[in-house]
Amino acid sequence: MARYRGPVCRLCRREGVKLFLKGERCFKPSCAIDKRGPQPPGQHGRDLRRGKLTGYGEQLREKQKAKRIYGMGEGQFRSYFERAVRQKGVTGENLLALLERRLDNVVYRMGAATSRAQARQLVSHGHISVNNRKVDIPSFQVKVGDMVAVRENSVANAHVQKAFQTADGRGRPAWIELVDKTKLVGKVTSLPRREDITQDIKEQMIVELYSK
Ligand code: SF4
Repeated sequence: MARYRGPVCRLCRREGVKLFLKGERCFKPSCAIDKRGPQPPGQHGRDLRRGKLTGYGEQLREKQKAKRIYGMGEGQFRSYFERAVRQKGVTGENLLALLERRLDNVVYRMGAATSRAQARQLVSHGHISVNNRKVDIPSFQVKVGDMVAVRENSVANAHVQKAFQTADGRGRPAWIELVDKTKLVGKVTSLPRREDITQDIKEQMIVELYSK
């Protein structure tokens, strides 16, 4: 299934929580969830009751939420799950770690972009290097010790600078150390652990859904 390219605030309203898809606006009072509350999208959204989900419905919503947070299509998301199953350890935690280790997510988490979508664009347009080599694949998996940097000619990019100036407000994860704040270089110091993933995802429900 193709990636969703419509209005992203609608996705947050569909899930009833902030998914942080729109960059700076997500942290301002103009955020659609903060302003209108978590009612479903559409003209009659306010009138629709968000009934309590159980079983399959709840599992499905958790999967959709995670897919939307990381901007992925169904097929790609499923392949991450299958990879997580093949790894040692807890499948749900493996899945989240694989998603967090995507290069576009790392660029977002180190503060060089205000959203994962913007980070994905930076990567695919060739603005990012890993260990001094250009990498333009958003799904590239980083490993411990990797040095992720905004390439020299792109450090002055107005979007990157603006993102970086507001990065503290978005929070930085413990597993990425910002080693050079001027050249915008981050080092992957460890693999992401469950407690490093701050967005509200109930990964066990995704495992249950795919294990049916
Ligand atoms: Fe979601 Fe951000 Fe839009 Fe708020 S501003 S509804 S968090 S995408």
